[in-house]
Amino acid sequence: MKKGKKLYEGKAKIVYASSEKNLVIQHFKDDATAFNNKKKSVIDGKGILNNRISEHILTYLSQVGIKNHLVKRLNMREQLIKRVEIIPIEFVVRNIATGSLTNRLGIEEGAVLDSTLIEYCLKDDKLGDPLISKEHIYTFKWATRREIEKIDRQLLRINDFLVGLFRGIGIKLVDFKVEFGRYKNNSKNEILLADEISPDTCRLWDMNTEKKLDKDRFRKNLGNLIQAYQEVAKRLGILHEQSNVRPLRFPKPKAVKIKNK
Ligand code: UDP
Repeated sequence: MKKGKKLYEGKAKIVYASSEKNLVIQHFKDDATAFNNKKKSVIDGKGILNNRISEHILTYLSQVGIKNHLVKRLNMREQLIKRVEIIPIEFVVRNIATGSLTNRLGIEEGAVLDSTLIEYCLKDDKLGDPLISKEHIYTFKWATRREIEKIDRQLLRINDFLVGLFRGIGIKLVDFKVEFGRYKNNSKNEILLADEISPDTCRLWDMNTEKKLDKDRFRKNLGNLIQAYQEVAKRLGILHEQSNVRPLRFPKPKAVKIKNK
């Protein structure tokens, strides 16, 4: 698949054109940002891990009927994906209170929610991705009622699936953010799960120790972010104990002199 020109560069990913009109190439960078771009860093190997973890999760989701943009992973940092028009809303799904929910509403940190909570934020960095209601979405036509009803149903299915997946490997899925896009296929409009699902976009706590295995390690200066992401990948079975996220380099063989006896 030939890589074309850069179409869009975001905080953690770059999108390139491909040789097919309806497909694009998504490249995972090592850049980490938080607090609306106020905190920035480059963390070696993060993009490689997110590419693998997101591929793994989206592949599972498509197997349980959640249509998404992933076509296939191309290499360590890139995926071939369907070209969608992103709906300008960040869909946040919460099982346990933390982060902006506790800051905004004073809900006790770590409180287990009685039922899954869905929140909508406008995808606009200049405005700081403000929380919005469904009425805002309909009034300003960011999405239709039919689209939001469909997405809400999918969010609950995605959450149920992911809670089970992570519980099986000793991790609590605290919350996560996803995005959806409109895909035009033979004049038919389809809603597809898009973007990524990775420790950058989820909060993942170890079941026993509550150790954070996600981007909060960067937000809260806890250190060892790569080790935490590797831990998630290992538990998901996509990274073996001894694997290293850096490309393997083999030392040059030393010249050996063979003496003629
Ligand atoms: N999240 C994200 N991108 C954002 C904002 C939030 O992926 O721009 C994720 C975040 O990692 C967490 C969930 O959405 O898993 C809920 O985040 P929250 O609203 O608590 O915001 P934060 O505390 O990150 O500002």
